[in-house]
Amino acid sequence: MTTETPARVRFAPSPTGVMHIGGLRTALYDWFLARKTGGQFILRIEDTDRNRYDPDAEWHIKESLKWLGLDLDEGPEIGGPYAPYTQSERLQLYQDAAERLIASGDAYYDDTTPEELAALRQRQQAAGQPPGYDNRGRYRTAEQIQESRDKGLEVVVRFKVPDHGELQVEDEVRGRLKFDLSLLQDFVILKSDGFPTYHLAHVVDDYEMGITHVIRGEEWIPSCPRHVLIQRALGISTPKYVHVPLITAQDGAKLSKRHGAQSALEYRDAGYTPDAVLNYLALLGWSPGDDTEVMSRSEIASRFEIERILSHPAKFSAQKLEWMNQQHIMKADEDELAEMMMPYLERPEEEGGLLEEIDRPIDRSIVRAMVPVLRERIKVLPDVIELIDFLFVDEVQPNPEEMIGRRMDEEMVFTSLNASIQALESLETFDGEAIEQALRGLTQSTGLKAGQLFTPIRVAVTAKRIAPPLFESIEVLGRERTIERLQRGLAIFSNYAGNRDD
Ligand code: GLU
Repeated sequence: MTTETPARVRFAPSPTGVMHIGGLRTALYDWFLARKTGGQFILRIEDTDRNRYDPDAEWHIKESLKWLGLDLDEGPEIGGPYAPYTQSERLQLYQDAAERLIASGDAYYDDTTPEELAALRQRQQAAGQPPGYDNRGRYRTAEQIQESRDKGLEVVVRFKVPDHGELQVEDEVRGRLKFDLSLLQDFVILKSDGFPTYHLAHVVDDYEMGITHVIRGEEWIPSCPRHVLIQRALGISTPKYVHVPLITAQDGAKLSKRHGAQSALEYRDAGYTPDAVLNYLALLGWSPGDDTEVMSRSEIASRFEIERILSHPAKFSAQKLEWMNQQHIMKADEDELAEMMMPYLERPEEEGGLLEEIDRPIDRSIVRAMVPVLRERIKVLPDVIELIDFLFVDEVQPNPEEMIGRRMDEEMVFTSLNASIQALESLETFDGEAIEQALRGLTQSTGLKAGQLFTPIRVAVTAKRIAPPLFESIEVLGRERTIERLQRGLAIFSNYAGNRDD
């Protein structure tokens, strides 16, 4: 049970391109706050910029949330008490709000043409002044606006910013922010196509949907006074603002692919676990208050505090993320880990999965049996493939040259393979421990050193230079298939040795 007031938080992406890490992290913080306080996590699609709208981006956002396990309480597909959750389906609300602002004198119709705006910008540039609208539309009469409409000119609605004064906004991360209103120009709230701008739409929706905390990137801080001005003019409450820090590269540069920053679905395809990505991103800009780094999602959710969001930029490190992934692989439940590995093994060969000749679905009991001895060798989930692929094929193709290890001669290879076949044939229980005991015992009877004994066996059974623990692999492979491989290895080696002697 929590003593905090349940938070209603929304993740409000604009579907205009692939969601970057900053967006994902915002979604995480929303979700953690909702789960910590027993509140609601809401997805709202902010698709009012029709020129930049991209349906693939919307799909991508929803898939990313699903993969990370950020379950929604309200949103476009599942609905909720404030549906619809897609802004293009809520236009009437914004248009009504714009009209209320016009009626109260806080906004006005403006027919300034794009050409006039361009000319204004040029003059400002030439005079070395900062670019910006000069509020000229304030003085247009209703008749002039009507004339422009009749001529087919575009008419927008602008919010009238007070000419002077200071506006203060409380930010949960940075404390009190102060803005000089004389530096702010009148801004568009409704475009000529009847669609609202972000400034108006999200303010209306956050209020209508009962949002308690607006968690968003710090790039929105300069716009924040606009939002508070709209709220005051509409007579609606201001939510709590939580502006989260930028994520940069290690050297402070703008983060990009070059630094290993990828989208959620790319991390998924590369074999990161959702819990590791979640854990890593949570720590990019938030700290639990001590040195704990590796945490489960429920642990983060229970420890999450807005007060512990940092106000300085967070530095992304691809190596740290990989390390985090390893830690989660080490900690995961064995059944779940095997389950997580399955899709990577089963995907088509050309996408990095097991060889095409191996029938799907593959035998998951093999994967499960190998998990305990494999997990510490894996950084990303697909690493498992080359460690266990030899267990799924009918035959492997051992290289006889590799059977002769260092300080070995041909005779030793024959001895190793023959002795191991015999030993395994006569074993009573065929498990890792018994196999190990039997094979190690051969060093005594054959006079071979462990390396000399095991190199030919490993190559014959796995055809690999580096393979997962041998005894467990032999157990999983089974007696019959192991002996078949040893015999085949022997034949391949005889042939090779015979040719060498000629
Ligand atoms: N649609 C805005 C964006 O994608 C949302 C910002 C906010 O959360 O208010 O950046």
